[in-house]
Parts: sequence; C-alpha cells; structure tokens
Amino acid sequence: MSIVKCTSCNAPLAEQGATEFKCPECAELIRRCARCRLQSIQYSCQTCGFQGP
Ligand SMILES: [Zn+2]
Ligand SMILES: [Zn+2]
Repeated sequence: MSIVKCTSCNAPLAEQGATEFKCPECAELIRRCARCRLQSIQYSCQTCGFQGP
C-alpha cells in the first residue's frame, strides 16, 4: 500500500477535495490536492514531463 501524494506539491492526499485525472500525454494518473487545484498550481507528469494548469 503506497501513500497517495499530490503531483504538484507532494502533500499526502488524505483530505477530501482532491482530484485525479489522467495525463493527456501518457495516461499516467495525476493527483492534485484541493489547495493546488484552487490556486491553479501547475503540475508536471512524473512519467513524461508534461506540464499543465
Ligand atoms: Zn498539492
Ligand atoms: Zn505523462
């Protein structure tokens, strides 16, 4: 069992309001905590390096 972490800020995702979606480039699962989502912090895919809002 692995700890799920925010792709943007690396915070553990225990709280509600987090979102997850697939990377448009490689379909890797990307997760963002509620704070990063609200502040529109950029994410970058750890697998292919894709960056997006
Ligand atoms: Zn975050
Ligand atoms: Zn990717």
